[in-house]
Amino acid sequence: MLLGSGELGREVVIELKRLGVEVVAVDKYANAPAMQVADRSYVVSMLDAEKLEKIITDENPGYIVPEVEAIATGKLLELQKRGFNVIPTAEAVNFTMNRQNIRTLAAEKLGMKTSPYLFADDFESFKEAVGKIGLPCVVKPIMSSSGHGQSLVKTPDDIKKAWDYSQSGGRAGAGRDIVEGFVDFDYEITLLTVRHSAGTAFCEPVGHKQIDGDYRESWQPAAMTSQAKEKAKEYAKKITDALGGYGIFGVELFIKGDEVIFSEVSPRPHDTGMVTLISQNLSEFALHARAILGIPIPAIRFYGPAASRAVVVEGDYKNLQYGNLDKVLSRPDTDMRIFSKPETGGHRRMAVLLARADSVENARKITKEMLDDLELSEGEI
Ligand code: AMP
Repeated sequence: MLLGSGELGREVVIELKRLGVEVVAVDKYANAPAMQVADRSYVVSMLDAEKLEKIITDENPGYIVPEVEAIATGKLLELQKRGFNVIPTAEAVNFTMNRQNIRTLAAEKLGMKTSPYLFADDFESFKEAVGKIGLPCVVKPIMSSSGHGQSLVKTPDDIKKAWDYSQSGGRAGAGRDIVEGFVDFDYEITLLTVRHSAGTAFCEPVGHKQIDGDYRESWQPAAMTSQAKEKAKEYAKKITDALGGYGIFGVELFIKGDEVIFSEVSPRPHDTGMVTLISQNLSEFALHARAILGIPIPAIRFYGPAASRAVVVEGDYKNLQYGNLDKVLSRPDTDMRIFSKPETGGHRRMAVLLARADSVENARKITKEMLDDLELSEGEI
């Protein structure tokens, strides 16, 4: 049973189906991307512990695979105690949905380098925290993802705005914030790390570009010094070992020269990892499926420089049509995935463009050309 049925879940379902698995997809809206390829689906708020329990006990799945953070994870802990198998573990899922947990584990228990940070529960302590951390700083609700409620405080004038925004953008509504020192990194990466039955394996580091905390472009391999790459693997191994279980993890790191600064980790496929749909023999989704099922991962074959570019659509489309595909996909070693989300709702990631080339630079250039060629329009409703 997949909890969350977005574009990442859809690819996980496809990989599980290829291995003969029966899949039940769950999300809060009907006809979500993963539901379209699953055997059955349920529409329910996964934050509603009682409803979640009912579906899980009715279906009695062999594996519960969370795809998003917004789940009543306390219930998963309870269900795991009753014998259900939560991927990678109910503890890891519950723990990582809270930025405070991850941050204190990484910095205080595991001794990893992070940005300086403080937590605040009200505006007074928030102002104090911003004062201590200094400007510029980054503000995020501890219960949030994908840039929701996140902002950069550059000047004292931004402080009130950042607080108000964080209080409206968190997953659980108003609540605690983390105030982080701004890291002036050279670049950031996701190190996709898979814990499987025979050990831990790493994908080539994924470089990416974010706008307002939301992924727009990613590429592989991120050019790194060998020292930084080794350190990144060491950090990824440490944090994923601490979390445990089988599956893929997205370990987000900031890099400055040879220095590696831990940012966060998610125990599931990562959006920046969509580049692996074209760059590897086993994508992050295939790796997740294999790891979950205890199937060996003898090697991850990297095909060479590759890039992904999100198609983020602004405006209100009810039946988005993708035109000019004969041109978009005319270049060799390119591909795309259309997520088939029912509507755009003002601003939404609807598809991803993929390319492989002789260099990362050229692969990125090709996905840009593909995006320029893509024609979007409203179809018949
Ligand atoms: P997060 O949701 O924590 O992954 O943050 C989303 C994005 O915001 C990151 O990928 C970075 O691009 C940026 N970001 C987050 N925290 C910091 C920080 N402390 N310093 C600089 N940039 C940050």
